[in-house]
Amino acid sequence: MLDKIKALEQLALQLEPDGIARQHIREKVVNYSEGFLENIETILTYQVTTDKGSAIYDTAISEEPKSIEQLLKVVAHNVDRPGLNPASGGHLAYIPGGGLFPSALGDYLAAVFNRYAGVFYGSPGAVRMENQLLRWLCDVVGFPESAGGNLTSGGSIANQIAIGAARDAKGLKARDFDRMVIYTTQQVHHCVHKAINMVGLREAVKRNIPINEHFQMDTVALEKQIQQDRNNGLLPFMVIASAGTTDVGAVDPLEAVAAICQRFELWFHVDAAYGGFFVLCPETSALFRGIEQADSVVVDPHKGLFLPYGTGAVLVRDTQKLYDSQHMEASYLQDAFQDIEELSPADLSPELTKHFRGMRFWLPLQLFGVAPFRAGLSEKIWLCRYFYEEIQKIEGFEVGAYPQLSVMMFRYVPKEGDANLFNDELVKGVKEDGRVFLSSTTIEGVYYIRLAVLSFRTHLHTIETCLEVLKEQVGLIKSKTKN
Ligand SMILES: *Cc1c(COP(=O)(O)O)cnc(C)c1O
Repeated sequence: MLDKIKALEQLALQLEPDGIARQHIREKVVNYSEGFLENIETILTYQVTTDKGSAIYDTAISEEPKSIEQLLKVVAHNVDRPGLNPASGGHLAYIPGGGLFPSALGDYLAAVFNRYAGVFYGSPGAVRMENQLLRWLCDVVGFPESAGGNLTSGGSIANQIAIGAARDAKGLKARDFDRMVIYTTQQVHHCVHKAINMVGLREAVKRNIPINEHFQMDTVALEKQIQQDRNNGLLPFMVIASAGTTDVGAVDPLEAVAAICQRFELWFHVDAAYGGFFVLCPETSALFRGIEQADSVVVDPHKGLFLPYGTGAVLVRDTQKLYDSQHMEASYLQDAFQDIEELSPADLSPELTKHFRGMRFWLPLQLFGVAPFRAGLSEKIWLCRYFYEEIQKIEGFEVGAYPQLSVMMFRYVPKEGDANLFNDELVKGVKEDGRVFLSSTTIEGVYYIRLAVLSFRTHLHTIETCLEVLKEQVGLIKSKTKN
């Protein structure tokens, strides 16, 4: 038996490379990532390829080891080349993500030490670090001491946790679900609808409250609808406002919604996944007045704080309500439940074992301080405003509403032919050019191109390039259709 164990040990020891071997892999990985970062300004934002990374399957997962050189080649060709490069400042589509470098090192540390950030008993320091970040986020939105929350994988799961907490806090039973009413606008992010379904409220009544010309919830209509639903024996239950819609960056009138929620005793949830951190900026903070009165708020540090993907947050005004919704005990965790000096992520979310995502958030925030984050966000607001003005100076372009945050819509109106088709061509042309990347949306049958500025790498020269690319592409499409 001992011989067998020793033989197995020999093979299993390959999982623990020694210092020299570690240095070798580390240098290869660091060199590869440095090559990327050094050239980030010239690497295309969108790379059109024919194989679309399909050669990934040629490197089969087998019993045999492979070299780091070979594997990085596979990654370079199949993963880091085709499609969108969200680390590029030219990413001006959807809601751009970030990828702050110290976050990568934070992930490195978190993975090497592999601290158990799920429960306080396992790693009190890791849990305190996440609680410190959550406290800071609560301060950012103006929540009281009673508030708390959870660092999630993103905004979608954060919304799900909040809506689940709202359901439980209202003490409603399954037999009530088809009489419960949830109020949103048609601008709400689709993940909110998914979240409603996932917490079992698929049958609930959903009301799309009309929006005004700025795409904000019409609170007069909201109040009327709630009253009417009440009179009809329904159970108005929660209002989900957006603080920065994905399509156009509209912030609902939060203060007015808060007052209505208070009057009718409804749960007030704010999805601020895109816009939340603009509360830090003097240019936009007034738009968020009333967010501090919400029962729950979702923010997404992997958007507005430029962190790499996989960092969202749910904040709940009364932590106890979140705890009551999520806390469970289990006999195999009985030791852990004796050490409860602070609440643990496992008490406040569906996750038990989890990524120690606090480290990738805490490291850049502490290293840089808050000031450059705030400046970066203000810069995005002004870049969007600048584009709004400059695009109108190019003949044929028209714009949508003035940007409330850092997203806006525009389109080209050709003298003849179908405008929707022309703009679709234009978006495709921009994608093929690849220097910047834009996306589109359709509002009431009209095709619009969106400009969403939120990458920490987007600066004035990026916006100038974007204007140049658009001008060029319009010329190209025109010359094509003439021939
Ligand atoms: C991005 C976004 C979400 C979804 O968040 P993920 O982090 O992508 O899961 C929800 N709501 C709004 C307003 C968003 O912009």
